[in-house]
Amino acid sequence: MTLSCLQTELTAELDAIRAAGRWRELRPAQAPPAVTFVCGGQEWVNFSSNDYLGLSTHPRLIAAAQAATAKWGTGATASRLICGTLDLHCALEEALVAFKVGGHPGYRALLFNSGYHANLSLLTALTDVQDVIFSDALNHASLIDGCRLSRATTVVYRHNDLDDLRAKLTRYGQARRRLIVTEAVFSMDGDVTPLADVLALAETFGAWVVLDEAHATGVLGPQGRGLAAQLDHTGRPLILMGTLGKALGSFGAFVVAPAVVIELLINRARPFIFTTALPPAPVAAALEAVRLLVESDALVEGLHRNIKHMATALGFSPDWPAPIFPVVLGAEAATMRAMQDLQAAGFYVVGIRPPTVPPGACRLRLTVTAAHTPAQIADVATAIRSVMPASSLAQATHS
Ligand code: PMP
Repeated sequence: MTLSCLQTELTAELDAIRAAGRWRELRPAQAPPAVTFVCGGQEWVNFSSNDYLGLSTHPRLIAAAQAATAKWGTGATASRLICGTLDLHCALEEALVAFKVGGHPGYRALLFNSGYHANLSLLTALTDVQDVIFSDALNHASLIDGCRLSRATTVVYRHNDLDDLRAKLTRYGQARRRLIVTEAVFSMDGDVTPLADVLALAETFGAWVVLDEAHATGVLGPQGRGLAAQLDHTGRPLILMGTLGKALGSFGAFVVAPAVVIELLINRARPFIFTTALPPAPVAAALEAVRLLVESDALVEGLHRNIKHMATALGFSPDWPAPIFPVVLGAEAATMRAMQDLQAAGFYVVGIRPPTVPPGACRLRLTVTAAHTPAQIADVATAIRSVMPASSLAQATHS
């Protein structure tokens, strides 16, 4: 195919995306996207980042990244299994076992270059054609793609619906291995999976649970140790995954699991084996973030104060658990208009459309961090009320 043929074909595909109103483009920031987002000479108060504790610009993380670069260089030089495993990777893995499972001797941790890689790794290494994965209907794209790549039978159960999960576990009794896969805090809805019940069901049916704590690490549980840390779960059929690029302010991801699972990942997970190891700087920054969380409850408490402020200001339940607030408008055009109105009023809030959410479930997704001030939270809530009639806001927040 000539370049001009390719150009004609791809332009037609792009035109179709544009015509469907699904055009996406990059918006480069001219300053760190923290409490403010600066782009194209404009500045907004930012309610779209996952930097829930404001750690991505913390002086201690920056100093740790600088010191690690000075000591180890800028790159890990090879994959983990060649010569890319540094003492620094092992130190973070050890710290994560301490942070997530109290240093339980039967558990190990393994770093991945992103949450996307970690989820692909887990699902493809643990399952094959003889197996069944039970996947929550609102799971993240990386979990969906992991299911597809795994070649296991994938059974989608209704979001957080234990009756549906039980019925499906009953129906698929014959598999070699059964895996229930769910997010801890759902990334587009901000709600939390009923983990104690999911784990009990897994035990009843001889299944394992893979829990994606991308938005729960640094957010839920004592000192931000995650949703699972609220339960006594060691020795039970639970595998934890989390990311370093959200509340921990760095980049990369991890799995914490019984040692045998980690050995299998090292030996079989292609997104782990065939990629260059994480460079020193983000590993050292994440290690410093874990140390900060263990030293003091103040950061996580500050985040939860702001979650409460936002929940009250927007009319969500006062017990809203997480820093993600979906204001569901349904229609795409209304959502994108509300987003533009909010941006015109000085607030960077993003509209979320299919395929990230199902058709008809378009929404504004607000995130709050420990670094926002109460005044900024009150102001964005007022702006949301002014771009949406009160009755539709009540509907939007409770749908
Ligand atoms: N899981 C969930 C629930 C997520 O929200 C994300 C990121 N949006 C990921 C996994 C992927 O993590 P990463 O950004 O580290 O690839």
